Amino acid sequence: MSRPDLPVDAAAVAAARDRIGGIAVRTPLVPSVALSRHAGTEVALKLESVQPTGSFKVRGAAAKLTTLDPEVAAGGVVTASTGNHGRAVAHVAARLDVPATICLSEHVPVGKVAALEALGCELLVGGDSQAAALETAAALVAERGATLVHPFDDPEVIAGQGTIALEVGEDAPDTTTLLVPLSGGGLAAGIAVAAKAIRPDIRIVGVSMERAAVMAASLTAGHPVELPEEPTLADSLQGGIGLDNATTFPILAALLDEVVLLDEQTIWDGMRFAFDEHRLVLEGGAAVGIAALLTGALDVRGDRHVVVIASGANAEPEHVAALAAGTRQPPTV
Ligand SMILES: *Cc1c(COP(=O)(O)O)cnc(C)c1O
Repeated sequence: MSRPDLPVDAAAVAAARDRIGGIAVRTPLVPSVALSRHAGTEVALKLESVQPTGSFKVRGAAAKLTTLDPEVAAGGVVTASTGNHGRAVAHVAARLDVPATICLSEHVPVGKVAALEALGCELLVGGDSQAAALETAAALVAERGATLVHPFDDPEVIAGQGTIALEVGEDAPDTTTLLVPLSGGGLAAGIAVAAKAIRPDIRIVGVSMERAAVMAASLTAGHPVELPEEPTLADSLQGGIGLDNATTFPILAALLDEVVLLDEQTIWDGMRFAFDEHRLVLEGGAAVGIAALLTGALDVRGDRHVVVIASGANAEPEHVAALAAGTRQPPTV
């Protein structure tokens, strides 16, 4: 199925794959006997948690930075993310010898600041909110001619995330259903474009937390909306999609088949299942696909082969300690 009306096509995903080799790794697809038993059908986990920097975001960052002309790259790249996107941009920039700056608010915890420092990027700490950090980033674009690397609303970033679907298509061509963590939608949009080009009837399910699921609310409203942020175990799924969203919203409005929303206990149960059954540490935002299958919120009995995108490993150390202790109660965040 080719959709020339959408801002990213399958050819862009194939081109991204050629560029990101050597930076992002080809991740394993591992069958889960325990989850298959639960779901009543074949289930496999796509382990993006083993990517360098611990999440799939390295694919999008590599796809974007490898398209920059040398003179543009010399001006540096900038982002205001302190999470997985910021880490990925810093890592990829260091690999490609591109100067990178990450703008942070004063409230970013010292642990996160140290992790970014270790990746060798410039840190600009200032302002008392994420919005202030974004303004600093915009100022750098204006002053230095730096390139802003958006975490999701960028066709090259989306194409990079879509390379996951090409690997799944090779390793499990009989896949009927993909469960994809959903926030800004770069991951789901890239995967949907690439997977539906291979298999038009594949079912793409986005999974988010109940707490401020902005893309889900936007898809229901038929246009991008804003919601006040709420604390959640799935912190890598927090944040808005931008009222001026130009790429992920139209792609998902066209290609996403379904959205499932989960409460905090269910997300924690997903993290616990990954740890107990597979000795796999997943952050909350990465465990939502497993969690959706455990609750039965999603009926997959008619689906032959389900692939769950386990998108990242970067759980808080105290949450990992609680997993190891077998704590059933979700930690408060
Ligand atoms: C960023 C992120 C997501 C969500 O990706 P979007 O492209 O914003 O939808 C999911 N899981 C993890 C671990 C992430 O870092």
